Amino acid sequence: MNIHEYQGKQVLKQYGVAVPNGKVAFTVEEAVEAAQSLGSPVTVVKAQIHAGGRGKAGGVKVAKNLDEVRAYAEEILGKVLVTHQTGPEGKEVKRLLIEEGCDIRKEYYIGVVVDRATGRVVLMASEEGGTEIEEVAAATPEKIFKEVVDPAIGLQTFQARKLAYSINIPNELVGKAVQFMLALYKAFVEKDCSIAEINPLVVTGDGNVMALDAKLNFDSNALFRHKDILELRDLDEEDEKEIEASKYDLSYIALDGNIGCMVNGAGLAMATMDIIKYYGGDPANFLDVGGGATTEKVTEAFKIILSDPQVKGIFVNIFGGIMRCDVIATGVVEAAKQLGLTRPLVVRLEGTNVDLGKQILAESGLNIVPADSMADGAQKIVSLVQ
Ligand code: ADP
Ligand code: MG
Repeated sequence: MNIHEYQGKQVLKQYGVAVPNGKVAFTVEEAVEAAQSLGSPVTVVKAQIHAGGRGKAGGVKVAKNLDEVRAYAEEILGKVLVTHQTGPEGKEVKRLLIEEGCDIRKEYYIGVVVDRATGRVVLMASEEGGTEIEEVAAATPEKIFKEVVDPAIGLQTFQARKLAYSINIPNELVGKAVQFMLALYKAFVEKDCSIAEINPLVVTGDGNVMALDAKLNFDSNALFRHKDILELRDLDEEDEKEIEASKYDLSYIALDGNIGCMVNGAGLAMATMDIIKYYGGDPANFLDVGGGATTEKVTEAFKIILSDPQVKGIFVNIFGGIMRCDVIATGVVEAAKQLGLTRPLVVRLEGTNVDLGKQILAESGLNIVPADSMADGAQKIVSLVQ
């Protein structure tokens, strides 16, 4: 789960990570009031959306007085911001962070991630702050430094110090940078983050080390033990279909293709997307209905797929193990009847109760194209949607 920058900064502040003073604003008036109460000579008006690259897209503005704060707030609120992370459709700005302007001496990058290769938390740092770390990694990988953390003892001071020196933090501020990294690491671990990215981390004219941006992602599987974080969820930022799917505990990810997929098991769901691609089609979603899905769950899953206007056809690919083919068939028929299915539907069933499942589909009176194998099903749905 993602949260907004201003929320991330509040979380980090609890751990002693230095951040500028700031307030969230939902309206222009609130923005002006916030700036007034901050009372800083320079105020920054920042669009709050779940995507980076806001600065370049005009979503971060420096205001020198309250009139400018008002003008920028009017300009940014309600604007659809298109950044390299939002996709071409962009995201509408509904919240602003009104923040003290910071006297930046230099920008750096600090990121805490889970490294799959070592299976450990890794701290990454670079002197090339402000730019996307992917670009730095591509052009000048030697400018990224890493420290792997031993989970038994946590991030060690010497590791943080080593990173601080590697990225040329001014000598007199190394101590503060080390404190910053230790606090950031603690927040990452205690809040079950999957990413904590500070880009930029800045050294200021008055000798502080601060997070000017904060991107925190949380492991959804750990949210049950972080009620405070769960409260920060902003449904406006999430795909409606994904929100609906999460209510039914379905693993659903919306994609931009036109073939809806209903599959059981994450591995089979991935393979199904691959084989659709292989035969020249484009999947509209990833969907794993899970092992013990009920008819109701399958019905809801099917409804979610059909609610996507981009979906031109559906491929149901089920290998019944724990999941029974008749349950899937009943759910498909139920949903199709409730919603009036007009789009082509290809079904491949295999495994437990397959004959019963096929019988239910055959007797439903629905126009269903049966498939004998994954390859057969994929080819059929690809040609049907063309
Ligand atoms: P994004 O990464 O989405 O573009 P950032 O929060 O990193 O947004 O802001 C972009 C740039 O704007 C930063 O690299 C920094 O130069 C500047 N900036 C952001 N916040 C402040 C602030 N409080 N004071 C001064 N400059 C800021
Ligand atoms: Mg940034």
